[in-house]
Amino acid sequence: MQYPEPIAKLIESYMKLPGIGNKTATRLAFYTIDMHKDDVTDFAKALISAQRDLHYCSICGNITEEDPCAICQDKSRDQSVILVVEEPKDIMTMEGMREYHGLYHVLHGVLSPIDGKGPEDINIAGLLKRLQNDQAKEVIIATNATPEGEATATYMSRLIKPAGIKVTRLAHGLSVGSDIEYADEMTLLKAVEGRQEM
Ligand SMILES: [Zn+2]
Repeated sequence: MQYPEPIAKLIESYMKLPGIGNKTATRLAFYTIDMHKDDVTDFAKALISAQRDLHYCSICGNITEEDPCAICQDKSRDQSVILVVEEPKDIMTMEGMREYHGLYHVLHGVLSPIDGKGPEDINIAGLLKRLQNDQAKEVIIATNATPEGEATATYMSRLIKPAGIKVTRLAHGLSVGSDIEYADEMTLLKAVEGRQEM
């Protein structure tokens, strides 16, 4: 049986989201039909606004409504440390810990030769530029504990260290292959405290 066009389209849209297969998409689509009209309108507006009203911070690459982002604008933060993450959502995770008060830099990916992702495809140049002008004394590399995350950390360390800036890597608290996103706050805190010089 063919679904009517409007619901078929909705199922198709849900299936474009990560981790959502046909079954879940169908369930969500039918759920949406029964939702309160205002909630559906809010949902549609939120989808459009999230893309239209958010930009990447021109300094750190974080998602933000205003440029520079609130973290880069906050002069009370420790300007001597920059913590490097793969994605903007990792900043939210680190901030959840409430123990880190330095600055951030978002790479928007990692080096991955298999996917054809080289140094020019991620935001490394932006970081090197910051290091020339800023007062940064330490760069903490918090890429995920995946082979690509490790390779990216090593690559960056080789670029940054000659400038006389200390480069550290999050400690073992994070298990191999794990994403920062899924680490609990205590594990993250230990990983930051126990960071090791590269
Ligand atoms: Zn920023």
